[in-house]
Amino acid sequence: MGALSESRRALLLVQKYGGTSVGTVDRIRNVARRCLAARRAGNDVVVIVSAMSGETNRLLGLAKQISDLPDERELDVIASTGEQVSVGLMALAIQAEGGRAVSMLGHQVRILTDSAFARARIQDIDARAITSALGDGKIVVIAGFQGVDRAGNITTLGRGGSDTSAVAVAAALKADACEIFTDVDGVYTADPNVVSGARKIDRISYEEMLELASLGAKVLQIRSVEFGMKYGVRIHVRSSFNDNEGTWVVPEEKAMESVLVAGVTATRDEAKITLHAIPDRPGIQAEVFKPLAAAGIVVDVIVQAYIQDGRTNLTFTLAASDLARARDVLVKHCADLFDPDEIKTETNLSKVSVVGVGMRSHAGVALKMFEILARENIHVHLISTSEIKISCVIDGKYAELAVRALHDGFGLARGG
Ligand code: ADP
Ligand code: ASP
Ligand code: MG
Repeated sequence: MGALSESRRALLLVQKYGGTSVGTVDRIRNVARRCLAARRAGNDVVVIVSAMSGETNRLLGLAKQISDLPDERELDVIASTGEQVSVGLMALAIQAEGGRAVSMLGHQVRILTDSAFARARIQDIDARAITSALGDGKIVVIAGFQGVDRAGNITTLGRGGSDTSAVAVAAALKADACEIFTDVDGVYTADPNVVSGARKIDRISYEEMLELASLGAKVLQIRSVEFGMKYGVRIHVRSSFNDNEGTWVVPEEKAMESVLVAGVTATRDEAKITLHAIPDRPGIQAEVFKPLAAAGIVVDVIVQAYIQDGRTNLTFTLAASDLARARDVLVKHCADLFDPDEIKTETNLSKVSVVGVGMRSHAGVALKMFEILARENIHVHLISTSEIKISCVIDGKYAELAVRALHDGFGLARGG
């Protein structure tokens, strides 16, 4: 905590408001009032805002009308403008309510990132401009999602990246809390828009939240959780439409172990590639995955199964959007390993996962998951596990059914 807040016993709060929460001018006014209330209660307030809902998609859509494969540097120039509009409107709305506010874009704060356009990583945040404006009694309104690289190019942090902007700013300022205001009351046992009986979780560990975020629960961007965990930021996910206590993301606590499964989630739009009967010799995996990695293609679940006669099948999943490119890369670089006709692909897959630190100390969770999916007659393509999660790749059309069945089966429903 800075000397400022210690002497006034004030809190330093970072509040992030997502797209739906700032989706209309009325909602922006509503958020402005909330920020001012926090300020008038004596706190220092830094606000991070997303683009108005639908705006980032609209902007990216405009670019796609011009080019199928747009230059990512220019895409970031375009996509980042959504947040520029939001911060200006938010600062105006706070001023209109009688408060003092100043907007700042990524390069004005100096949120320094690497140069990986569309998926940039924050490297450093200069807190001086923010601290100075707070010292002048202003609410500082910062554009989420965007940064600047060393060469001065505008960058963006990947979809949902305003969460990461917020947690990173909170870490840089050593804020007392980072409040993520969104359109649901907190982190639930499953997406409340899919499972009506989903229950709000009061406290969740960073590790469980990391898994849920990386396995499809978009309520927090995964990198925001990584930042939170690394710098010990207290993250409070809550609704921008009410004052209910939301979900605290915190270091693991003893009581959490007694819960077998904390949450159920699913990713969509996955694809699968199988290379049939490739030579089963040392180094074969590196030969296959090296050109894919060089092409920036991220692979996920990998399964290898020996067939016979020194031959093996190698199967892996990846984002459906990368499938065509991956196939081309394999045909080009690994032609000596297999006949191109022997590359089998499948799309419209989903990965459903159950997550919970309690799994570490309890047996039978995988079995229970398989039994629940079997009862629904859902075919499992691939399985992958970690200490605290079990994932099954299934046909995408059964994703919601699987999530509901697992949520029920593990007793996560209200009162379950
Ligand atoms: P924002 O625009 O505020 O960043 P997002 O749409 O990115 O909001 O994230 C909030 C959404 O995340 C919710 O509306 C909900 O549908 C979805 N979601 C998915 N899984 C979960 C979960 N386990 N708990 C809460 N919300 C979830
Ligand atoms: N506006 C960006 C997006 O839609 C960032 C965010 O909302 O967090 O992905
Ligand atoms: Mg979001």
